[in-house]
Amino acid sequence: MDTNIAEPYLLTPGPITTSITTKEAMLHDWGSWDADFNEITAEVRQRLLRMANAEGTHTCVPIQGSGSFAVEATLGTLVPRDGKVLVLMNGAYGKRIGKSLDYMGRTHVAIDTGDYAPPTAAEVHAALEADPSITHVALVFCETSSGILNPVADIAAVVKGAGRSLIIDAMSAFGALPINAQLLPFDALISAANKCIEGVPGFGYAIIREEVLKESAGNAHSLSLDLYDQWQYMERCGQWRFTPPTHVVASFLQALKEHEAEGGVQGRLARYSRNRDRMVAGMRKLGFKTLLDDQWLSPIITTFFSPTDDSFDFKVFYDALKARGFIIYPGKLTEADSFRLGHIGQLNDAQVDGLLEAVAAVLDDMQINLNAG
Ligand SMILES: *Cc1c(COP(=O)(O)O)cnc(C)c1O
Repeated sequence: MDTNIAEPYLLTPGPITTSITTKEAMLHDWGSWDADFNEITAEVRQRLLRMANAEGTHTCVPIQGSGSFAVEATLGTLVPRDGKVLVLMNGAYGKRIGKSLDYMGRTHVAIDTGDYAPPTAAEVHAALEADPSITHVALVFCETSSGILNPVADIAAVVKGAGRSLIIDAMSAFGALPINAQLLPFDALISAANKCIEGVPGFGYAIIREEVLKESAGNAHSLSLDLYDQWQYMERCGQWRFTPPTHVVASFLQALKEHEAEGGVQGRLARYSRNRDRMVAGMRKLGFKTLLDDQWLSPIITTFFSPTDDSFDFKVFYDALKARGFIIYPGKLTEADSFRLGHIGQLNDAQVDGLLEAVAAVLDDMQINLNAG
């Protein structure tokens, strides 16, 4: 069933195109204190823990707001006020972690490798050796601004070896890239409803090592972003502190069931990878170039250089694609003009082929032939 007739597909890194059944799951009103809703919350938390193979060692704490709220809440709850964070930056989301720490008054240092180059485990090792006052390392799993996958496993091993605490922003990775808490030593891993699990936006969550969270009382600078307090309250009465996004949580449970039915993380990884391969091959055929070499392309989102042709105008390109049913995403590079195409959400071969046809037609209309000369 084509459920999105007349609605454009979102080729963005969230919000993404959701299934009709996920949308339909919002057609009820729940009492935030009611047992029916508390059961939904409990099942969501448990399913997320299971997806990360984190049952028994970690707990899942959801928090109202977009993904950045969950990142800020996790940092503010786990990093004590006299802590010091090493932030690994290679794009906008790493930079945002630094900015959040500035706002909440936590000391931090950065390894900034620019627009996309990934930080290496050796660099992190050296930085931790050189500065024993660093208590935490913060890292982005898939840096959605370029689409690159950072070497999370290597860096996690180094952080653990140095006895520091690792916080991973896995916003655009969790649900599509295998993450096993028993093999990947993290203290916190953060994601949100509207990325690879394909829910609608409205809350984020952190999967936090329980023994670490237990020690975090009193760290938070913000009442509404205190994950320790949210966790304690939820454990006590099954409810969220303050009004939860009830419809969003209920539809997220439906999205989790559909994720499982698709084959879980492996199923989703397979579909997103196929979307990427088909999209990248088709775009290259039209003459576009990717920012990253093949080995770094993630199944989440790909950055393409904008054509240097004088008659290319991103706004015109964007509007023309939108008129044909596809919403693309602007680039976030400081060095070169670019745009991004997401591979996540309810997208399949038919939508990818539709997009490629639309791009070809729009280039024609703009009188641009990237394969000429
Ligand atoms: C989407 C995303 C976020 C959160 O962004 P919001 O706009 O606050 O939802 C954070 N980090 C990464 C890597 C992301 O992809």
